[in-house]
Amino acid sequence: MRVMSVVGNRPQFVKAAPLCRALRRGCEEILVHSGQHYDPELADLFFDELGIPEPDHALGIGPGTPLQQLAGMLTALEDLIGRERPDVVLVYGDTTTTLAGALAAAKTATPLAHVEAGLRSFDKTMPEEQNRVVTDHLSGLLLCPTAAAVANLAREGVTGGVHMVGDVMFDAALMFREAALARPGAAAFGLEPGGYELVTVHRAAATDTPEALRALVEVLAAIPGPAVFPVHPRTRAKLEAAGLWEAASGLPNVRLVPPVGYLDFTALLVTARAVVTDSGGVQKEAFFHRVPCVTLRDTTEWVETVEAGVNTLTGMDARAVGRALDGARFPDDPPELYGDGDASGRIAALVAEFAGR
Ligand code: UDP
Repeated sequence: MRVMSVVGNRPQFVKAAPLCRALRRGCEEILVHSGQHYDPELADLFFDELGIPEPDHALGIGPGTPLQQLAGMLTALEDLIGRERPDVVLVYGDTTTTLAGALAAAKTATPLAHVEAGLRSFDKTMPEEQNRVVTDHLSGLLLCPTAAAVANLAREGVTGGVHMVGDVMFDAALMFREAALARPGAAAFGLEPGGYELVTVHRAAATDTPEALRALVEVLAAIPGPAVFPVHPRTRAKLEAAGLWEAASGLPNVRLVPPVGYLDFTALLVTARAVVTDSGGVQKEAFFHRVPCVTLRDTTEWVETVEAGVNTLTGMDARAVGRALDGARFPDDPPELYGDGDASGRIAALVAEFAGR
């Protein structure tokens, strides 16, 4: 059985870490790195510290608009699928790389499996939402992390090949927690455990216009602090281009630092007082590590965290962020939301069965 896994972004590397191990117990995996994330601190570092196998193929797509990247990936993947003839193409999440893998599989009539299927924010202006919807509707095996994801698919008439398996990011969180706790974490930034906020921002909606970036700087100013903000290269580039980098990096309450690796990030997260983010993965990781989360968006696909009272949606509204952080606490008895830590084992078994059909 030959499974071609297509990855290309920071969150996909995190998800691939537990799943590559599980897949390789029973299948031959051909790992493809699209090159969508190419900065060493968003890519190479993750392969090294999470023990992800060396990619069999690196497409080396690099910078460009999402459409330019998509076009480059499609051409390269068509050729690669033709040469490698996998039984299944497997894609993760909701990025340009995901969409490219899905379209290339569909157009070469190769069965497609989607990890993190069924998630919806119901905001079709989000590039990620577009990618999710198209990918799900092309997939023959839909691997859902949550009951809400299964229900979303049913509402769209997608019921065949749908399985609730749990969340691979939870597997990763359990797998690497101990290694993360051995990192210096807060101490490396002169912060007290339990006494700081951890911030991440990278989505298009927060960074693509000067107005959005000005709102972001206002939000940063409203965080009580001390806070640490590992800045995504895209966010930094956009702040610099809008002439707002000095305003952001001069704030007394928030320290802007380069992005950190998964283990250092997890170490920072575990002892944060609260997380402030627009990331999908970080909302869940806050839940895994029992840290309250404030999400700088109006919608989320991780609705169960909001229902459980551990995640507050504020949009990019400085006052709402201040209020949410004032009241942020994590409940003593949170529900179990994302499976038992073996989503990867379940996915590997389902993929092997799907490939053998
Ligand atoms: N992350 C990291 N270093 C950082 C910021 C985030 O390792 O400086 C990790 C984080 O732990 C999570 C993943 O990156 O596993 C989330 O990626 P991102 O926010 O880029 O993407 P999203 O989840 O929003 O798709």
